[in-house]
Amino acid sequence: MENVIIIGTGCAGYTAAIYTGRANLAPILLSGTQPGGQLTTTTEVENFPGFPEGIMGPELMMRAQAQAEKFGSKIEWASVESIEHREDGTFKINAGEKSYESKTVIVATGAAPRHLGLPNEKELIGRGLTSCATCDGAFYRDVPVCVIGGGDSACEEAGFLTRFASKVYLIHRRDELRASKIMADRALANPKIVPVWNSTVSEYLTDEKGEMRAIQLTNLVTGEVSELEVACVFVAIGHVPNSSFLGDLVDKDENGYIIQNPGRTSTKTPGLFAAGDVADHYYRQAITAAGQGCAAALEAERYLSDLE
Ligand code: NAP
Repeated sequence: MENVIIIGTGCAGYTAAIYTGRANLAPILLSGTQPGGQLTTTTEVENFPGFPEGIMGPELMMRAQAQAEKFGSKIEWASVESIEHREDGTFKINAGEKSYESKTVIVATGAAPRHLGLPNEKELIGRGLTSCATCDGAFYRDVPVCVIGGGDSACEEAGFLTRFASKVYLIHRRDELRASKIMADRALANPKIVPVWNSTVSEYLTDEKGEMRAIQLTNLVTGEVSELEVACVFVAIGHVPNSSFLGDLVDKDENGYIIQNPGRTSTKTPGLFAAGDVADHYYRQAITAAGQGCAAALEAERYLSDLE
């Protein structure tokens, strides 16, 4: 029986591991399908305190992992399918062939990129449709590409893609970016970024090999439909929280974000805590996720000492 199982290895998960590890609770971290979380798909992180010159997202996560391991955390690859809360108050965590038993669970599973829901998108992922510029941007040199979205992610991805692409169309459904002013100004000042306002992508158009060739755009103000040639579409329209495996163990809002007890990371199930983007649709920052990971670790530690 473990003291703490932490599900997720993003900022929240690693921070929870550092704290519970230093408290001698020997945490087990289950890494899921995207070890390192969302920061492994970003470029430079400029707003994490302590790194005035910035730090690359993957490096920040590798350092967090090393720090968690230094204090005795054990990291295992396991994709959790369900959690049972047993009569004695402990948890059984089911992950394919493996299962784990623990007195407490910290859910730090983050959120996954949202897609538009167009008919052929599943087949196109990896064939000119992606949500990770850092992973796939370098494949599209000297060709036009587009980014869908108007937030910080869209602006960041567009800026990164200008290193490779001949032109980056930034397709947004309104005529004003949601991104923070510094990110928006930087994107709009970049001569390689061409904003396409008030528009949505209504169809992905493929070539004879089934690869992305162009997009069909619909102008939401005029209703005009047009076609734009792009070799790759980078989707940056927000995220969906990875909370479905929890069933009724937690309350969720209408978008699937876990509802924590007021002012706490605890949930309606005693011993089950939630931290980071899976429970936060509002701040969604690396540093706030780390803060919640710390809070969840402290709460789990207190919960365990109350059990004794
Ligand atoms: P976001 O801020 O929620 O922005 C999502 C964008 O996608 C919005 O512009 C939204 O349009 C658009 N959108 C949503 N659904 C759409 C749909 N079905 N069709 C077309 N467009 C759609 O998400 P994000 O950019 O991923 O950022 C998430 C959080 O991470 C934010 O808090 C952000 O500040 C943070 N972040 C920070 C940095 C940084 O500081 N370096 C970098 C990346 C992300 P509307 O504007 O019309 O709603």
